[in-house]
Amino acid sequence: MGVKGKSFPILELKHQKLIPLSAENVWPDGAKCSVCFTFDLDAEWVFQGNHPEVAEMPRRLSQGEYVWNARIIPRLLDLFDEHDLKTTFFVVGMNAKNHPEVMQEIVSRGHEIATHGWKHEDIVGVGREEEERRLLMSVDAIESATGVKPVGNSIAGGEISPHSHDILAENGFIYDSSLRGSDLPYKLENGLVIVPSYYEMDDFHLFADYPGYAAYYARMMSPEVGWEIWTNAFDGYHRYGLCYTTMFHPQIIGKPGNMMLLDRLINYIKKHPDVWIATAEEIARHWNTL
Ligand SMILES: [Zn+2]
Repeated sequence: MGVKGKSFPILELKHQKLIPLSAENVWPDGAKCSVCFTFDLDAEWVFQGNHPEVAEMPRRLSQGEYVWNARIIPRLLDLFDEHDLKTTFFVVGMNAKNHPEVMQEIVSRGHEIATHGWKHEDIVGVGREEEERRLLMSVDAIESATGVKPVGNSIAGGEISPHSHDILAENGFIYDSSLRGSDLPYKLENGLVIVPSYYEMDDFHLFADYPGYAAYYARMMSPEVGWEIWTNAFDGYHRYGLCYTTMFHPQIIGKPGNMMLLDRLINYIKKHPDVWIATAEEIARHWNTL
């Protein structure tokens, strides 16, 4: 269906009803707020899903291949080990298929892998059957590499479709991290938990520099801008007892200078003793117990 004067379709999303909960006493062991470090492992697929011509652009592709060549994932995992914390990686299916050994390392070191599109493509309009087929290809790639079936998802490369949440629930997923409809997790009518994430916590919006993509062209900020936004946000989430979820990308946050910023941010958060740092899966499972 369309709207007068507009050519784009209106998505009629189901399951939008929130089940509201107050932010008091919702976190385990008396924690005041939760912190969920998530990383979208897009690498060279960040634009290819919607712009196949990128496959012929070696310089742009190399900004994603950087993740593998510079061994950014082990660099991140070493930092998490130093801080004794577990995180969630939303992985593009093709990356799981092409780099099974990296997937194994993520899981063997205690972190969660969840789905993030087959090729980081917009799935709106592909149809329910095709959307499900692509999701299951991602599930297979992750499960074959790690032996662990993903239970979480974050939509890549565009909007969610009217079918996305039903497809996820019917295939054993317990949460989705694609919506931004609250500061706390919330439950949809079909039982799926939403672990919301926020653009203010997206490193791409601060530090990505992809010539040719207007939205990500030469927007390099000082690390201090990231520090101010992310610590100021944390102070607010902590004050109000909410769920602080990052939306970082290994190819951005894993650059050497940005690793220093990430280390500083983790140290800042850990100075607060009453914070529950958990994976998105742990947060969703906890939410299901409330
Ligand atoms: Zn992504």
